[in-house]
Amino acid sequence: DAGIQGDLALIGLAVMGQNLILNMDDHGYTVVAYNRTVEKVDAFLDNEAKGTKVVGAKSLKDMVSKLKKPRKVMMLVKAGTAVDSFIEQLLPLLEKGDIIIDGGNSEYQDTQRRCKELEKKGILYVGTGVSGGEEGARYGPSLMPGGHPDAWPHIKSIFQDISAKADGEPCCDWVGEDGAGHFVKMVHNGIEYGDMQLICEAYHLMRDALGMDPDSMSKVFEEWNKGELDSFLIEITEKILKFRDEDGKHLVEKIRDAAGQKGTGKWTAVAALEYGIPVTLIGESVFARCLSALKEERVNASKLLKGPDATFTENTQEYVEHIRKALYASKIVSYAQGFMLLREAAKVYKWNLNFGGIALMWRGGCIIRSVFLGNIKRAFDNNPELSNLLLDDFFRAAIESCQNSWRKVISLAVTMGIPTPAFSTALAFFDGFRSERLPANLIQAQRDYFGAHTYELLSDPGKFVHTNWTGKG
Ligand code: NAP
Repeated sequence: DAGIQGDLALIGLAVMGQNLILNMDDHGYTVVAYNRTVEKVDAFLDNEAKGTKVVGAKSLKDMVSKLKKPRKVMMLVKAGTAVDSFIEQLLPLLEKGDIIIDGGNSEYQDTQRRCKELEKKGILYVGTGVSGGEEGARYGPSLMPGGHPDAWPHIKSIFQDISAKADGEPCCDWVGEDGAGHFVKMVHNGIEYGDMQLICEAYHLMRDALGMDPDSMSKVFEEWNKGELDSFLIEITEKILKFRDEDGKHLVEKIRDAAGQKGTGKWTAVAALEYGIPVTLIGESVFARCLSALKEERVNASKLLKGPDATFTENTQEYVEHIRKALYASKIVSYAQGFMLLREAAKVYKWNLNFGGIALMWRGGCIIRSVFLGNIKRAFDNNPELSNLLLDDFFRAAIESCQNSWRKVISLAVTMGIPTPAFSTALAFFDGFRSERLPANLIQAQRDYFGAHTYELLSDPGKFVHTNWTGKG
């Protein structure tokens, strides 16, 4: 093995790590592979990596000795203590200027902490979002790297070579300092929750209001995937809806309606609350999963709590189109909210985020990949200072043309007792955002009445006054 000059070492030979290694190997890089359970290294070399240039390592010391300088070590291990434990073991083996990259789903605060600690030791730390699941890792993920900016020139070519491409451009660019990459990945996952919930609400309305069967709904999604909603999630929904179990029945209708979640949607909602940004659609999507998970309580309640007695008497085809427009308008609001959160975090942490670049990173490779993200990229290209997506000409016109349908669909849902939390919150946000006056004047009066919290007058902003509302001393 003497004289091996590996381009990068990868720790963590579960599915993501293995696939990323094979992807790097395809692009001509020499990767040194390592895993905590060392037997997995040989197993990998003898099977999945047979016939490749991948080099195995027996220990971290062995691994580091096989790397070119500055050394690049990437981890794809379980987020949390495993990452800290590897960093601790690597430190005595590395030199100033070496690079450690965490490609797991780490919380951005952890990445911020690690960046700061390692900077003191002269190590360039990178936290990168990796999206696209196993398939993406193998053939082209969306990569969202952030951390110490000095690391980027050293890893840029390998990252951009292995990433997905959209319109000929790599779905990978430098995101920003410290935890920016993992923050952007977190928001990506939150938006994924939102996109999925919107699709589920469209399905719910088609099935329970319009009375459509899975095959007809599958055809609707197939059509939708040819237009402005063209995306990975719409595409798989079309395939899921028509999929039949061995008995010939539609599998989707047999699946227990209780959603799971691993937490990244929740983290986005927590961050939204933390920074005071109304990312309501992702929040509602997380809560919709929570409500679905209360299956037994719902089964009991369904026997006691009656809904409206209404039937659908409109034209089905027309309503399918109204639903499509409601979905599209809600999706625009969801992304506008997501980018509002990114903007605020950038302000708080002084990240110089390139919003168009982020849209491009999500344009291909990842779960939320879509044609729509190309429109977002163009909106930020046209105006990099765009304060809100809803104000972009393209999206303003899109919402305008969807607005009546959007309102019709939500009215129908309310009349028929079908919950549409994401559609509804998106419209409420839109109506709030476009309101010059909201009723918060009354909130201010109430706060001042019971707590002397003071208020400003419209005619004199910036000056806080208190009123003795009761006339009592
Ligand atoms: P995983 O199941 O999350 O992690 C397994 C790997 O972590 C194994 O190499 C395992 O080593 C190592 N590990 C676990 N606990 C450890 C500890 N305490 N100390 C040292 N090593 C430890 O694997 P994965 O699904 O491939 O995901 C890897 C990372 O990518 C995760 O952070 C995941 O969230 C993220 N990610 C996954 C996907 C996906 O689609 N799966 C997509 C994007 C991002 P042993 O073999 O020794 O147990």
